[in-house]
Amino acid sequence: MKEDPRAEALELIAAIRMRLMNAVEAGIDAIRIEAPKTATAPRGASPASPPSPAPERPPQGSGLFDAAAKAAPALSTGEKAAALEAIAAEVRACTKCRLHKGRTNAVPGEGNPDARILFIGEGPGENEDLQGRPFVGRAGELLTKIVEGGMGLKREAVFIANVVKCRPPENRVPLPDEAAACLPYLHRQIAAVNPELIVTLGRPATGAILETDEPMGKLRGKVFHREGRTVVPTYHPAYLLRNPPAKREVWEDIQVAMREIGLPIPDRRRG
Ligand code: SF4
Repeated sequence: MKEDPRAEALELIAAIRMRLMNAVEAGIDAIRIEAPKTATAPRGASPASPPSPAPERPPQGSGLFDAAAKAAPALSTGEKAAALEAIAAEVRACTKCRLHKGRTNAVPGEGNPDARILFIGEGPGENEDLQGRPFVGRAGELLTKIVEGGMGLKREAVFIANVVKCRPPENRVPLPDEAAACLPYLHRQIAAVNPELIVTLGRPATGAILETDEPMGKLRGKVFHREGRTVVPTYHPAYLLRNPPAKREVWEDIQVAMREIGLPIPDRRRG
């Protein structure tokens, strides 16, 4: 037995951290961690914590990696930016699904590597495909309005990504095999940014993150917890362009999301 248990723990943490950083760079998105036989409580819960009101089901293919990433010391901003750029480079060269054939540009995602909030849409549209950036068309303008006008944040303060990184033809919903092929990139982005809050925009993105087939009408207005993060589903901005009255419900969802992470709600949009 070592004489200094604290030194032993620090040594172990450093080894885990190094292994995770190597895994990110190598493109590995799942590391199996053997839980102690006696550890039955959910991660983050103290032994005395009451059971969570929401049933927890870790996302397939991401949970183990995510749990390991959160168990290690947080990455620095520079390390996060490097991990995100490595993912973006892979995305730009990716041919894992048929969507690469029709793309002008892949759209990996963009934003603050240290963002507390991560917005997730379903996939790039025409403008995004042309510019290689997420949410830059009319729906993107509306998302920017929600972030800047509604939440009082700079768009650059949040991170914005999609489930699939290449434009589906005619802006159709990504097919299940396309989403499955692309999701590991999103899971790695989530692990790198390590946001407190994920806002899913529309049913495809919400379904991919929460692994559910429930309709948006049943999902929005609720708060979910996955791997220690808060997930708030709301309508996609493109839906709001077709159905402006739904802006009120989106604003209600955004206020719920902001309260969840303790952000002040600007007075001018209250109600
Ligand atoms: S959509 Fe995703 S998985 Fe498919 S080619 Fe593009 S980056 Fe690769």
